[in-house]
Amino acid sequence: MCGIVGYIGREQAAPILLNGLGRLEYRGYDSAGICVAADGVLHVEKCKGRLANLEEKTEHGALLPGTLGIGHTRWATHGEPNDINSHPHLSQNGKIALVHNGIIENYLEIRTFLEEKGVKFVSQTDSEVVAQLLEYCLGLPETNTVPDAIYMVLHRIEGAYALGIMCKDTPDSFIAARKDAPLLLGYGDGCNFIASDVTALIKHTRDVAYMNDGEVALVSADGIQVFDEYGQPVEKEHSYVDWDVSAAEKGGYPHFMLKEIMEQPEAVRKTISPRIKEGQIVFDELSLDEDFIRSLDRIFIVACGSSYHVGMVGKYNLERLLRKPVDVQLASEFRYADPLVGPNSLVIVISQSGETLDTMAALREARRLGAKILSIVNVVGSSIARESDDVLYTWAGPEIAVATTKAYSTQLVLLDMLGVYFAKVCGSIGDAEYEEIVEELLALPVKMEAVLEDIDEIKYLASRYFNHNSIFFIGRNLDYALGLEGSLKLKEISYIHSEAYASGELKHGTISLIEEGTP
Ligand code: GLU
Repeated sequence: MCGIVGYIGREQAAPILLNGLGRLEYRGYDSAGICVAADGVLHVEKCKGRLANLEEKTEHGALLPGTLGIGHTRWATHGEPNDINSHPHLSQNGKIALVHNGIIENYLEIRTFLEEKGVKFVSQTDSEVVAQLLEYCLGLPETNTVPDAIYMVLHRIEGAYALGIMCKDTPDSFIAARKDAPLLLGYGDGCNFIASDVTALIKHTRDVAYMNDGEVALVSADGIQVFDEYGQPVEKEHSYVDWDVSAAEKGGYPHFMLKEIMEQPEAVRKTISPRIKEGQIVFDELSLDEDFIRSLDRIFIVACGSSYHVGMVGKYNLERLLRKPVDVQLASEFRYADPLVGPNSLVIVISQSGETLDTMAALREARRLGAKILSIVNVVGSSIARESDDVLYTWAGPEIAVATTKAYSTQLVLLDMLGVYFAKVCGSIGDAEYEEIVEELLALPVKMEAVLEDIDEIKYLASRYFNHNSIFFIGRNLDYALGLEGSLKLKEISYIHSEAYASGELKHGTISLIEEGTP
């Protein structure tokens, strides 16, 4: 879920869009594109890779003259990162151009419906359905205006979106809409903007208003009109942004890791909610058939670092739920261990980037031994995703900080959901427990928010422990697995020596290192 910028005014739009997208580069992205309107044509240029490629391709925007445009940096969720899947997307008749951040959960349904009507899709994205559906709705006899059609579309799509939409037939304005994805309006002098993040705007204006869920904005050069989800006009409260650029990039937080910690509830929500439908865990993306799941004789979880610790939690949960053996192995050790992998084994590999070399090597070894591979990764189209039989994506968005936080949390929930799903297929979980877990999963993001609200308690704990030289984490079972990650984080971030022990093991080992006052 990456970046959006939109501009309308008197100046050339393309250089402003490219500059705005440049300000969003720090968020991570895999492709970029812009659309500018001129002489009744929507001119789109987009390409995979760095923004510099797009700048070169458009001669720094000079090849796309025009004073109205939208731009996008993509972080792929549906369809690999390539030129065609990049945004903006045009509808079939070329009259609508659209950029989207987020995920349209019911895109397959809509795509099938439109294909039956003869619409030809060009990309693999969920976003293109919004452009095509808008064209379809505009063509209906009961539709009078572009906003009418937009509301029809918004009432049909499910999921999260920030949208920037241009229509060839309305060259004096463009439209923005949002639900569960950030989007803000920027008010300039004779010009106006939209952006997914203030950093894209502060060069031009610091007078902004944050869009709320369900709102639709009609942006023209001399004003922005905002409407609620029922089409009623809304008076927006303006904010003045006094952050400098570097603070703005971090959303006002002093560093990326803190920002990403605070993003965890949202990331977890995005990972869970599309996969729970009518009280059931559904993995539409899985191709593993149920007979194979029932016939599994062993599950391996293979990963490095924090993802390995996710695997440790997964082992406890999966074995309890499935009553099948689950081995957790360090990816760097896997191919030296002569693992007992066979055709009835499932190897689950976990990697945030999908490019972790040791994990990749383990995956290839498991494949050579005849196992089926299911990967849990965060980056669509990454090498591990491509080489797996099945992929489950954690919808954590780009993770900039070196120490993982939101990717770790989303891996945890996804692996747990997978365990519960397998248990249901294998008949090893009762209805009551299943329902309770599903309910708890849905409640989890709100509970995480509550924990993160209590910053003072966290600060107090940090102030009590920060000047110790050595800290031990002890716990049993799940707490031990969590302690491993806690200890790794502490070492990685504070450089305080730390070890994690299963509670019962401490007495067999380094208890001699524990002195009076060692936490
Ligand atoms: N789901 C869309 C895609 O995969 C948008 C991704 C984004 O937010 O950048 O193209």
